[in-house]
Amino acid sequence: MVGENIEVQTNISFMDAAKGVQKDIAVTPLVQCKTCSGNGLKKGMSRSQCKACEGTGTRVHFMQGGFQMASTCSSCGGQGVTIPKGGECGACRGNGAVRERRTVTVDIPGGVEDGMRLRVMGEGDHPPTGQAANPKARSEKGDLYVFIRVAPDAKFARNGSDVLYTASIPLTTAVLGGEISVPTLDGEVKVKVATGTGTGDKITLSGMGMNKLSSKRGNNGDLRVEFKVQMPKYLSVNQRTIIEMLADEMGDKSAKRIMNLNQYKEAPTAKDTSGKPGSSADDHKDEGFLRNMWHSVTGQHDHLNKPTEEQKKKNGDDQQEQEPKKASGSG
Ligand SMILES: [Zn+2]
Ligand SMILES: [Zn+2]
Repeated sequence: MVGENIEVQTNISFMDAAKGVQKDIAVTPLVQCKTCSGNGLKKGMSRSQCKACEGTGTRVHFMQGGFQMASTCSSCGGQGVTIPKGGECGACRGNGAVRERRTVTVDIPGGVEDGMRLRVMGEGDHPPTGQAANPKARSEKGDLYVFIRVAPDAKFARNGSDVLYTASIPLTTAVLGGEISVPTLDGEVKVKVATGTGTGDKITLSGMGMNKLSSKRGNNGDLRVEFKVQMPKYLSVNQRTIIEMLADEMGDKSAKRIMNLNQYKEAPTAKDTSGKPGSSADDHKDEGFLRNMWHSVTGQHDHLNKPTEEQKKKNGDDQQEQEPKKASGSG
């Protein structure tokens, strides 16, 4: 006689699925009745031959036309013996087994996937030996099946034994290249970002994924890192200026221009005669810095030390007022 299998569900975290975990699982299996030791009888009582089938376990019905039909005896369930009326064990009602709350410690191996069932041998139901013809006959407990639900992770996803991670990188890192920190199942690691990395570009950290359950120990899947370039939704004046400069430098004809960068290019020629050669780059405002950068980029270094229009205004240098204000893009 073999007992029934039991199925229970257990929920574990993504990291527990990756690393493996010991779980205490509460179950209520049928266990052998201690009162009757599984035979289903009150003390001093014994089984007697079933009167309905005379111990054969089957009953024969005579049908019309002389046919006979055999069926399992309903009184003894085909066992040929019955427990006499009132002779059942009070604790298990003759079943030989009772439900009992137990805790089973289950070793969940690293690499399990959501929806997998883990079989724990012999932790299922004890068979109802009280219903057997011979309760002392060899009997076996059923198995426990643990249905595993793995909670989704905020950082990682997985595809089989491969772990997937999306790494957000700044626009500038994507363009210039660099190095970022990436979380793995074993902590952070540094990875190189290639110059010109785009959203959707991938790198593979081989062997840094989940343990492969189907193969030998130490054989792991990969960690696949997918880059996502963070695109700024808002640009400061400086950022916009620099990027418009970049657009010019890269010959981008389609990009929108709103910063009127021509004023910076033209400013030196307009102010060529104004002379305060001592005014140096370090007391420049941001606009001055940008202008200087633009000059470096475009090779107009010779104007680097000339005061900017902004400064002249600030310095109250009104002798230049009559000059045409070519740079007044805003007014
Ligand atoms: Zn009992
Ligand atoms: Zn019977």
